[in-house]
Formats: sequence, structure tokens, C-alpha cells
Amino acid sequence: MRGSCYSRAVTIPFRPITPTRLQAKGWARVGKPGAHLLRRGAWYPVVRISSSHIVVLDVNRRNVPVDRRFLEIRYHPPERWSVVRCEPREIQRVGRLFPLTYAVCPSCRHRQGFGTDTKELACERCKKSAALAWDELS
Ligand SMILES: [Zn+2]
Repeated sequence: MRGSCYSRAVTIPFRPITPTRLQAKGWARVGKPGAHLLRRGAWYPVVRISSSHIVVLDVNRRNVPVDRRFLEIRYHPPERWSVVRCEPREIQRVGRLFPLTYAVCPSCRHRQGFGTDTKELACERCKKSAALAWDELS
């Protein structure tokens, strides 16, 4: 690259760079267990809405089509922990022992148990601290 290109580049007025995540078309999560492979209570970025029935989500960097009926969609980034209440038989199927009610981290989707009157929780994995969305219990 020639020196002149570089000097021209630095004179371009400053423009804030928007992180890719903020350009998502929205966020979606599943409430009820069903014929999908998504983690309950976890928010996934919407890649596109391909028809009236199918929404394509970014699930761990893979595009996964999901039936829209399973989804709750919102257009601003998730900020609070989802509170998920499990049926005992669902826990058996997962094959791991989870508390009957657990929270899902809004930023890294880590599942974590908490005390009964917890209002705010710090993530063991990504260290983010956020309020629990008790009013949106799924
Ligand atoms: Zn986290």
C-alpha cells in the first residue's frame, strides 16, 4: 500500500463503529420446551425472518431455522437474566441435575441457580451482573 492511501484514510471524519451484535434484526428466545434445540430462556440473535413461520437464529454461530410459534422476539438487546422453571421430567431428559428454577445469563447464556429472593445475579462464567426478569417468568 502506498503512503498516500494511508494519509488519506486518516483524514476521514470519525465514524463510530457499530459492533455486529447491535446490528442483529432482533433477539429471540423460546419459552416452552418443544421440537427445537434451543436453550430455554436464552436469547439468540435473529439472522433473518425468512417467512411468516420461520425465523433464522444465530445459535453458536450457526444459522438455525426455528418455528416462529416457539419464539418470543424483541428488538433491543437482552439485559436481564431469564428465569426458567423446569418440569421434573424435563430435567430427567437433560440427564443433568438442575435446580427446578434457574436463570439464563443475558450475555453468555450460562445457566445458573440462585436463591429464592434474589433480585440481581452475577454470572459465574462471564462475570456480568444483571437483574432477574421475574416478571417474564417462562
Ligand atoms: Zn454470563
